[in-house]
Amino acid sequence: MLKRAYVEITNICNLRCSFCPGTGRRGRSITPEEFYRLARRLRGRVKYLYFHVMGEPLLHPRLEELLAIAAAEGFRVCITTNGTLLPEMGDVLLAAPALHKVSVSLHSAEGNGMGELSEYLDGVWRFALRAAQAGTICALRLWNIGGAEARNGEILDFLAEKLGEHPLNLPQPRQGSWRLGERLYLEQAEKFDWPDLDAPETGTRFCLGLREQIAVLCDGTVVPCCLDHEGDVPLGNLLEQSLEEILDSPRARALVRGFSEGKPSEELCRRCGFATRFG
Ligand code: SF4
Ligand code: SF4
Repeated sequence: MLKRAYVEITNICNLRCSFCPGTGRRGRSITPEEFYRLARRLRGRVKYLYFHVMGEPLLHPRLEELLAIAAAEGFRVCITTNGTLLPEMGDVLLAAPALHKVSVSLHSAEGNGMGELSEYLDGVWRFALRAAQAGTICALRLWNIGGAEARNGEILDFLAEKLGEHPLNLPQPRQGSWRLGERLYLEQAEKFDWPDLDAPETGTRFCLGLREQIAVLCDGTVVPCCLDHEGDVPLGNLLEQSLEEILDSPRARALVRGFSEGKPSEELCRRCGFATRFG
């Protein structure tokens, strides 16, 4: 049983983050019928669906239906969002029984040269409080340390004002995570470089890609992880094949064997700086 499947419900985004590689793939959103087919093929093989690879999941025009299908098929859903649409879409999210966790990429604000941050932060904060109160975990992310982090101070000051205490003085249940309240967290991490076939080799030896997680792009293509944003390691198509068939393919088996032997079989993995976070 895999721990999670990243499902790219749309690869369309309303932002252009400076750190985002974007995608050269055609813009597409998965239909509810396709999502149902994927969900049936993932059912019993993975517990958590993460709605994200590329794109902004809250832009999906039929998100409510997808969340209802996920609930009916017994999945828990985690969503990663840039947070800009939370004021409009918060009610849809909080009405969904499948919703388990929402991660908000606060670093996207500076990554887009956003001017005044208060309206954006207010919208995120109001949603975060409602979500946590309703039983959903909410993580506010600043994954930009060592990168575009000049405005982190403003964001931390905003949180300090809301909390009555500086967030970095609050208890840290684990490295890089501060507990702001019941089910409410701040997460800080180093910026990372997306794997890229043109990048230099990084010395990756092991990764949990395909061992604990897979990703399904918005056209059904299965790739080993949520970092393969261009589908450089296509292993099959879940709209046309079963998961077993895909995981049993020579390329998928070579990938798992390569990590076991410390010799990644895929060029993309040998150029990936993110594997250590999964390891
Ligand atoms: S919000 Fe996500 S998908 Fe959109 S541009 Fe930023 S990093 Fe890329
Ligand atoms: S090494 Fe990088 S690109 Fe390869 S599966 Fe792991 S996270 Fe994905």
